[in-house]
Amino acid sequence: MDNGGQITARKPAATLLLVGGGHAHVAVLADLVRRGPPPNARTVLLTPHGALRYSGMVPGWLAGQHGRDEGVVDLAALARRAGGEWVQGRCVALDPGRRIVRTDSGAEISFDCVSLDTGGVGRGAALLGDDPRLIDIRPIEDFVARIAAMPPPRRVVVAGGGAGGVELAFGLRNLARAGARPEVALATGADGLLPGFSEPVRQRAARALLRQGIALHHAEARFEGGAIMAGAQTLEPADLVVAALGSAAPGWVRESGLAVDGEGFVLVDARQQSLSHPHVFAAGDVAARADRPLAHSGVHAVFAGPVLAANLRAAMAGEAPPRAYRPRWNSLYLMNTGDGSAIASYGPLAARGRWVLALKHWIDKRWIAQYARLAGTA
Ligand SMILES: Cc1cc2nc3c(=O)[nH]c(=O)nc-3n(C[C@H](O)[C@H](O)[C@H](O)COP(=O)(O)OP(=O)(O)OC[C@H]3O[C@@H](n4cnc5c(N)ncnc54)[C@H](O)[C@@H]3O)c2cc1C
Repeated sequence: MDNGGQITARKPAATLLLVGGGHAHVAVLADLVRRGPPPNARTVLLTPHGALRYSGMVPGWLAGQHGRDEGVVDLAALARRAGGEWVQGRCVALDPGRRIVRTDSGAEISFDCVSLDTGGVGRGAALLGDDPRLIDIRPIEDFVARIAAMPPPRRVVVAGGGAGGVELAFGLRNLARAGARPEVALATGADGLLPGFSEPVRQRAARALLRQGIALHHAEARFEGGAIMAGAQTLEPADLVVAALGSAAPGWVRESGLAVDGEGFVLVDARQQSLSHPHVFAAGDVAARADRPLAHSGVHAVFAGPVLAANLRAAMAGEAPPRAYRPRWNSLYLMNTGDGSAIASYGPLAARGRWVLALKHWIDKRWIAQYARLAGTA
């Protein structure tokens, strides 16, 4: 540029790299759409798929309450609307010192500031053992693709007594594609049904499982000599075993040299900022709060999203991140029972009914619709 006879080079745009298109990063993209990108910055979104599948609607898809493509956010369109660029790929290595991410295609992406929202990885094979009938719920996109491609199962075992496992057991028992309802057994593990939920919620869930003829086993599932077992009891014959056993930290996180907790999740403060590298942020299941325990749950990824958006904007401007995510003590959790009803949990309170499912559908579809509007795909 000619500046009073002096030639000055334009400052290169700084790169904000969003790794993973999870429930927090869609809020970051939404903020970029609404308020425009930070000055002199480019945004790059790295994800293996052009869409985020909203996990809360997967049990409803199994039960035929939603179409396969209803519960998705178009990440590629959202990134475009945000003035950013979507790169298809998976992060396999992160060097926070050199500020470089390597993808599964071998490409390197450099950044000034990076934010991680990749979720965790499945633990099915590690905890149960390997078997061709095993499908892990994570990555959820692969789970949906494999279930959609296979013939309807006749006998299913679900391993995992948390909310995800319980909802999947109900969804698979009511599998829309199946001529006859599949037989379903749910192995909860030693912690029992819905650990962390109130007694009234657990009782309602136990009654609904019984009513629907879903066998409940309060024992650890594992493969032994090629058979799926719950404790000492065989659950054979089974033609599908679904693992919903929570998530583990991706290996590349631990290898990156970032500060991590005992399980390898990125340690962040209330501002979602890495404890070791201030230009690294993380949210959702891949992150662990250093200041307080916080369950790995979509609710926290969703609510941390706007905080993360504000803090990334500040970080890109060279300012201190201004906002902290202060989770409420209780979260509303709505569990689809696959039969036209749902169970609500809020702290010690519980409710069950068709109205709970109507409320769940309304909340879920409103969440999806806001992003469809912003992405221009509504
Ligand atoms: C059946 C089921 C139902 C559930 N229902 C609820 C519910 O109703 N409410 C609730 O609060 N929680 C629910 N959960 C838990 C919830 O799914 C997770 O806590 C939530 O998805 C975590 O969000 P996230 O943003 O961390 O990551 P995710 O939603 O897992 O998104 C991660 C994104 O990153 C991408 N990605 C992954 N690896 C890489 C990589 N290496 N590089 C680049 N991109 C990558 C993925 O493709 C994806 O786009 C449910 C879970 C299950 C299994």
